[in-house]
Amino acid sequence: MRRIRELMAERLDPQTRLDQIVRLIAQNMVAEVCSLYVLRADAVLELYATEGLNPGSVHLAQLRLGEGLVGTIAATARPLNLSDAQKHPAFTYLPETGEEIFNSFLGVPVLRAGRTLGVLVVQNKSARVYRDEESEALETVAMVVAEMIAAGGLEGLTRPGVALDLTRPVSFEGVALSEGIGIGRVVLHEPRVVVTNLFNENAEVEVDRLGEALGFLRVSIEDMLARRDIAGEGEHRAVLEAYRMFAHDRGWVRRLEEAVRNGLTAEAAVEKVQSDMRARMMHLTDPYIRERLHDFDDLANRLLRQLIGRGEDDLSELTDAVVVARQMGAAELLDYRRGQIRGLVLEEGAATSHVVIVARALGVPVVGQVKGAVSMSENRDAIIVDGEDGSVHLRPPQEIEALFADKVRFRAERQQRYRSLRDVPSRTKDGVDIHLQMNAGLLVDLPQLDESAAEGIGLFRTELQFMVASTMPRASDQERLYSAVLDAAAGRPVTFRTLDVGGDKVLPYLSQASEENPALGYRALRLALDRPGLMRTQLRALLKAASGRELRVMFPMVTDVSEVRRARELIDRELTHLGRFGYTLPRDLKIGAMIEVPALLFQLDALMASLDFVSVGSNDLFQFFSAVDRGNTRVAGRFDDLSAPFFRALKMILDAGNRHAVPVTLCGEMAGRPLSAMALIGLGFRSISMAPPSIGPVKAMIVALDAGRLTEVMDEHLLEARPGRTLRQQLMDFAKAHAIPY
Ligand code: PEP
Ligand code: MG
Repeated sequence: MRRIRELMAERLDPQTRLDQIVRLIAQNMVAEVCSLYVLRADAVLELYATEGLNPGSVHLAQLRLGEGLVGTIAATARPLNLSDAQKHPAFTYLPETGEEIFNSFLGVPVLRAGRTLGVLVVQNKSARVYRDEESEALETVAMVVAEMIAAGGLEGLTRPGVALDLTRPVSFEGVALSEGIGIGRVVLHEPRVVVTNLFNENAEVEVDRLGEALGFLRVSIEDMLARRDIAGEGEHRAVLEAYRMFAHDRGWVRRLEEAVRNGLTAEAAVEKVQSDMRARMMHLTDPYIRERLHDFDDLANRLLRQLIGRGEDDLSELTDAVVVARQMGAAELLDYRRGQIRGLVLEEGAATSHVVIVARALGVPVVGQVKGAVSMSENRDAIIVDGEDGSVHLRPPQEIEALFADKVRFRAERQQRYRSLRDVPSRTKDGVDIHLQMNAGLLVDLPQLDESAAEGIGLFRTELQFMVASTMPRASDQERLYSAVLDAAAGRPVTFRTLDVGGDKVLPYLSQASEENPALGYRALRLALDRPGLMRTQLRALLKAASGRELRVMFPMVTDVSEVRRARELIDRELTHLGRFGYTLPRDLKIGAMIEVPALLFQLDALMASLDFVSVGSNDLFQFFSAVDRGNTRVAGRFDDLSAPFFRALKMILDAGNRHAVPVTLCGEMAGRPLSAMALIGLGFRSISMAPPSIGPVKAMIVALDAGRLTEVMDEHLLEARPGRTLRQQLMDFAKAHAIPY
């Protein structure tokens, strides 16, 4: 190891350095052959250096990934230790190397962060089995070689037109979660701590350092487990308990110590053991094992940070960051500077993940379910995130870059057109005013109110404040937020929805039993009516924030009209309380409900009679109406919300609203899709609320629409199922025929 370290430090040209490394290994292991194969972008392993094989075959001998012993090692990321190599079924003979006379074979993958970059091999004529220590030692040298390759140490050796696998462009297909296109450079959210100090001077000292760091790690896990606010119940606790188990895992600790005894520093040992483990388990599909692997990764990262602090690389100045993470919390996204982030790539993540909701509010494109993104990326790699079709392009070739440059230009032109519509009234060609409002939930959303020229906030999701916080927001925090929202709205209406938590919207600090069907479970108003403390605190904060101004409060997930009555009683109690203490009450208080549960469709008259307004939560209403889980990508797109049955249900709501002179609006995602919004207007909606970026495209549709004509067409036959043409197709026909952008 000492000699290798010296070799790395010497000023040598790359080929000489490689040649000397393989010679040194051969000498030390008393092997006749030592060779290094490097994986190229075209999935070919090329011989880069050899001691003992025909020197003329360097850069000429090649094996495909999966081919021969070397190709098998690269493909499986596992070492092969054979006393009679030619008997192995994968053995192939490369005549140019003259290797047939060698019997025993030991090959190890050259790994970095779980990726295979090449293969290091030793061979002997005699039929011998290499000892475990020898295999370990070779793996350790392979790690040094991996760092050298990653640091660009082979530059100049690679023939023109040939690229190494490390720099290979990779395209991923994920799931589009937040609209937009982001072009920039990778910032790994969990910085890969770069271990630069690989070799130890004194193994005992390093074993002690390792032991100390492990001790700290164990104590910090115990601390977290002891803190109720962090550990609580459920998932959080389960993860911490898994950490605890791994931190005490004897096998892991033994492998770490072994690597140190083989010459590595404590941190290099952590990286090596982790890289081996990741490479071996990466191809496993069992979700349980993958999850455990992630836990191990997290733990190894903590250990590395414990040993050498955070990475040196300062990326905070990047203004075109595309953050790549396995998963992250919403609050962590807010830690990045505003305007710094061009995109977000998540290995996990679903449309309803909190971080995705926040990213959407910030206008950051997101692609989720991008398997392998973290280990394939290096900080500052070029990357493109397409939040429209769900693709991610890492280290894109020029053609793809050019394609996206065009796409971005096209989008910018479109955005410009939308901006030019900003001050144009939202009125159809035949003079029907459509009230466009926006959905919001965080302070970061508020500037959009002016930018989008929305008429107000049709849905303020108050739970987002709770979801991004690590502890329960205090009454004063809530009041401060609501007050800031009303200030920013400056007289424009704001509809606050009371807490819609529980079920799938989990608050880590609020203990909740796990449920088999969380969407149908103990959530929203159900929870609020049973545990009125939370709801009363919120109502009081709202009433105080609105002091002297209009306040609109809306209840989510109402299933039975009696729930509205009970919720109203809570408001009345708060009003009495505040009145008694001399607070200025809201100038005007309007109470509404979301129509999200189909049972309400059959109590519409009673419902309308008890409220000032209603808003259709079409996301949930459609989910329950058609029995498809909105977060389950396998079924979420199976049925169409632009369909006659669902539109008939919406019509029932509009009719009931008209009968009772109660305004009806709709605030689910369909309001923000121009074609669906067009259909809603045709059906009779005059007010809809959507994510701010949708206001431009929807307005562009509105100014081109003859609402009367569409209503006629829809009344005539669109709500009748017609064989062959779906409602969506017929609406598209209409839009095309009238040059309506959708
Ligand atoms: C809905 O269900 O349509 C809605 C707007 O509420 P959320 O998306 O927050 O459930
Ligand atoms: Mg809902």
